[in-house]
Amino acid sequence: PSQQRPPSSYPVPASNSLQGVPVSPGIAIGVTQRFQPTLPTIPEHPTENPQSEWEAFLSGIEKARSQIQTDLATATRHTNDDTAAMFEAHLLFLDDEALRTPTYARIFNEKMNAAAAWMQTIQEVASKYRHLEDNYLRSRAKDVEDVGNLVLRTLLGVDALVPTFDHPAILIAPELTPAETTHLDPAYIQGILTAFGGPTSHASILARSLGIPAAAGLGQQILDVQDDTLLVMDGETGRVWLDPGDEIITTYTQKAKAAKAAQAQARKESQRPAITHDGHRVEVAANIRTASEAALAVDAGAESVGLFRTEFLFLDRDSAPDEQEQYEAYRTAAAGLDNRPLIIRTLDAGGDKYIPYLNLEKEANPFLGWRAIRVSLEHTDLFKTQLRAILKVAAEYPIKIMFPMITTLEEWHSAQALLDEATHEIRENGGATPDKIETGIMIEVPAAALMAAQFAEEVDFFSIGTNDLTQYTLAAERGNPKVAQLSDAYHPAILQLIHRVVKAAHTKGKWAGICGELASDPQAIPLLVGLGIDELSMSAPAIPRAKQIIRQLDYSEIRQRGQAILDLNTTEDVRAACKTLY
Ligand code: PEP
Ligand code: MG
Repeated sequence: PSQQRPPSSYPVPASNSLQGVPVSPGIAIGVTQRFQPTLPTIPEHPTENPQSEWEAFLSGIEKARSQIQTDLATATRHTNDDTAAMFEAHLLFLDDEALRTPTYARIFNEKMNAAAAWMQTIQEVASKYRHLEDNYLRSRAKDVEDVGNLVLRTLLGVDALVPTFDHPAILIAPELTPAETTHLDPAYIQGILTAFGGPTSHASILARSLGIPAAAGLGQQILDVQDDTLLVMDGETGRVWLDPGDEIITTYTQKAKAAKAAQAQARKESQRPAITHDGHRVEVAANIRTASEAALAVDAGAESVGLFRTEFLFLDRDSAPDEQEQYEAYRTAAAGLDNRPLIIRTLDAGGDKYIPYLNLEKEANPFLGWRAIRVSLEHTDLFKTQLRAILKVAAEYPIKIMFPMITTLEEWHSAQALLDEATHEIRENGGATPDKIETGIMIEVPAAALMAAQFAEEVDFFSIGTNDLTQYTLAAERGNPKVAQLSDAYHPAILQLIHRVVKAAHTKGKWAGICGELASDPQAIPLLVGLGIDELSMSAPAIPRAKQIIRQLDYSEIRQRGQAILDLNTTEDVRAACKTLY
């Protein structure tokens, strides 16, 4: 469902429904709550050093400025002029003397701390705006408060603010960052609807791993929905019904029931291997982002972890986790797997995963810039710390290492050299490391896919990251709903690259898996198996169904038919052909 899109002949939506991009399957029927973050407590203590408090305030302003500039760039790309104008207004407030002068006075004359001085000023100014006659000026109060809250967050070092829920609800937000999504409480969130974003953005991947139905790219209109509005959403199709009538509610209640029953059936058999009618086995693995998810994945039927996204250990904090903290996290994950293999991917920073303390510079095209292995090869201390932590756990458990976003053989060689150094450092200190650790690369960049034969001589395995491979091959950013239609992993170019990688791996006796979202798409699984993929790695909730599908296949048949699909010309033809595979 993750990669499923509404067919282009989808009936024109009724006036009370919205069509978004499907993100995470499932039906939710419930009331809405807009993303209204709960503010952190403002400290009350006075300051003894007004000058340093003022400097802290100015640096908070600068951090807020860079955040707003990022938001402005996103808004300019994805939304209408109003949203961009709002961020431009926010930028002006940062330099507004009507806010700065009173803050300065409170810090120096009243010895207030920066956060308290700033927030008192914000409240005072917002209240003045609220009492004005003019409608337009009155609405500026909200802007002042938004800017105020943003600066407050930077002053207090709070990376993400999340709303608290007192009853289950469907969350509505412009877009969620990975850090915000991580903090959401799945017990209260029935569904997630965002105005922007796409199916393979990291917040979307999180929604899937949490098993929360979600749709993205619903546009500005979804943000106008008031709190406590009853609605129905279907994450499999991306459709949202505002003000649903009895008929829709009844239909979707039944659909939800049927889907639950099918999922329960698949779960019953989820511990059995995935073997086709004619005896071909495919490994079904889990993608995890925290150590505690490993045990849950095993519960869902995972035979291994094909992708541990370690960056989540690094997000949303002031400094990197040290070697001991990382060692413990990786060990907890490994222990949760009961001797099943664990592939740990080294830090994938950059792109849409912003890690404040790495001081990554602002870039016009972060996905084409300083990201993943490129960052690790520059921050060698950070990288080797991670490698040492992994190696120490690998002395006790079956661990493999995987490098993200490898583009050139030189990068692979540099990463290997640093891995050797990390091994020596441990041994010099009398620590234990494995005699040999299997090491592979992610295939996410077309250059690496095209050079797969050369890489296959040296690596132990490939894991194809179709999320990035699709955006880079089709030059269509993964989080951008404007190009969501184009950024489609079913394009024949992607299939040809996948096929090329599998052939290169098998020629050298290596294996190739997929850990992008395509791996869990029920419509794609038969084709991927037919192309010879050895392993499919996905969010845990998708595993039971994936195994069920593989068990219904005939390998010799889908191999032949898979070859024929490779020759098709368009995404639409491929999707149509996939529908006939099982
Ligand atoms: C991918 O790009 O397909 C992938 C699995 O990595 P991530 O989604 O974390 O970028
Ligand atoms: Mg990737």
